Amino acid sequence: MRVLLVEDDEQLGESLETALRLEQYAVDWLRSGEPVRATLGATPYDLLILDLGLPGVPGMQVLRQLRADKHALPVLLLTARHTLEDKVDGLDSGADDYLTKPFEIDELFARIRSLLRRREDRRLTRLEVAAISLDPAEKLVEFQGESLDLTAREFAILEILVRNAGRFVSRQRLEEGIYSWGEEVGSNTVEVYISRLRKRFGSTLIETMRGVGYRIPA
Ligand code: CA
Repeated sequence: MRVLLVEDDEQLGESLETALRLEQYAVDWLRSGEPVRATLGATPYDLLILDLGLPGVPGMQVLRQLRADKHALPVLLLTARHTLEDKVDGLDSGADDYLTKPFEIDELFARIRSLLRRREDRRLTRLEVAAISLDPAEKLVEFQGESLDLTAREFAILEILVRNAGRFVSRQRLEEGIYSWGEEVGSNTVEVYISRLRKRFGSTLIETMRGVGYRIPA
């Protein structure tokens, strides 16, 4: 799961970034609203955490622009304001949920899980392909009816392949799904995860096409 965090408060931003990474989310952090649109256009994200009080373009304007662009990304607003009017305004503008500062980090994680769960409800709760059954919100996976324990990154790679079953997915796209900006990406990291997944699910599950990428046949 990859999260875009937009927060101008250095201290809060830093602690959120750290906490989210510890919880195994890939997270990228922007300090202002201006680059949000271009960033979302360039990289696939699963969630936007958006502070309302930002320098320059306010968070509410970022949100309205996003929805005007028909971007369906789940959005969790952060704000220091807590009047009913602000809350209604945010939800009317297309936010999926709302958290008033200060908040406990566990509360944030609970809201994130609930947002991702709701997003999954809008699609399919479970993704099923090739004897694999995968629940993205709960991060559960079963293979031939048995549940398996995967690391967060193994799961993320598998999820991308399952969502794209039948199509080849490039190594770069897989890297984008598991790394935050600035994180060191080993040149053979994706290969390492693919090989671990093959050990768990059998050597024929994932096909490789040199120079193109990987796929799970549909
Ligand atoms: Ca702020």
